[in-house]
Amino acid sequence: MLENIYLDHNATTPVLGDALIAVNTSLLLNGNASSIHYFGRQARTTVENARENVANLVGAAPSEVVFTSGGTESNNLALNGTERKICFAPATEHHSVLSGVRKAFRVPVNSDGLILIDSLETALKRASHPALVSIMLANNETGVIQPVREVCELAHAYGAWVHCDAVQAVGKIPCNFKNLGVDFLSISGHKIGGPQGVGALIVREGLNLKALNTGGGQERGRRSGTENLSGIAGFGAAALWTLENLRDFSGFAALRDQLEYSLQEIAPIKVFGAQVARIPNTSCLTMPGVSAETQVIAFDLAGIAVSSGAACSSGKVSDSHVLSAMGVQKKDADTAIRVSFGRGNTANHVTRFRDIWADLFQKSEHKKSQIMALAR
Ligand code: PLP
Repeated sequence: MLENIYLDHNATTPVLGDALIAVNTSLLLNGNASSIHYFGRQARTTVENARENVANLVGAAPSEVVFTSGGTESNNLALNGTERKICFAPATEHHSVLSGVRKAFRVPVNSDGLILIDSLETALKRASHPALVSIMLANNETGVIQPVREVCELAHAYGAWVHCDAVQAVGKIPCNFKNLGVDFLSISGHKIGGPQGVGALIVREGLNLKALNTGGGQERGRRSGTENLSGIAGFGAAALWTLENLRDFSGFAALRDQLEYSLQEIAPIKVFGAQVARIPNTSCLTMPGVSAETQVIAFDLAGIAVSSGAACSSGKVSDSHVLSAMGVQKKDADTAIRVSFGRGNTANHVTRFRDIWADLFQKSEHKKSQIMALAR
């Protein structure tokens, strides 16, 4: 039997062995990290070790790490926990940013998906109060990398704070909180080989953040609730592994390029964001004339997991706000799928993907020519 192939690592990536062990070990610790007795202290040590690993991964101080339930909560906390009433964000941000705040003004992007810096500057100039700018480091659908440092310098010149959703960038490219110059940074555990349901918001030392979860005052009053001990332990172990193995991730660019070249030889495909810097593992590409839904189902039947860039939480395919903000025509956007590589993928997987892709495309072309012949 042919092995199933997972090419959807941007949705979530398999849990690392080290993370699995850390989760299991911590599940056996019978303590609450807030308790002062022996058992509590053991749990606290686990949390603080993980905090240090997560801080090291992104070049932050451990005291700047606030554990959350994941990228979505981190984004929501950054956007709503500051006193800033005005928020500017590129129109291609993740839904947890665009709908995570009452009013996020959408800054346009160019056809490659890069923020239009002049439009941001105009908006910052016109703002009646110092704003919050939220910008992702790498886009989840196209992989396009935003000029976060440049945005930061501009925003700070206007007294704005900057939040960076680095959920898709961490573990794929170097991501250093201090070098980026941002004030807040969101990370998610399950995108780097940790368990699902845990993440962190990095908050620059000295910045005030109002908690959205209030109660026991955990996480130095910034996020109440008993810490998710096993999730945090797994996240910490994944962070340590990721820091030590980050360099290897760039190798996935070779698989992605091989995939794109081989499909370009078969059909006039479009690859969105290909003209600018992207994270190494992601490709958002069209199959002319074949809907994304049809492709995802056909690949699934053939044992390959990919996603429509715009698959929403219900699993249904909806219009991609990312591609539409980039000015992609609906007829092209409707045929775009996302392939995202990660640990375990090999050149053989690309070959199998290409063969299935070619077969599906040829069948669709054949069907089209039959319909045209009948219509004549
Ligand atoms: N931000 C980006 C760019 C993402 O891709 C995702 C998840 O896909 C999130 C935020 C949400 O992260 P989580 O699944 O941890 O809530």
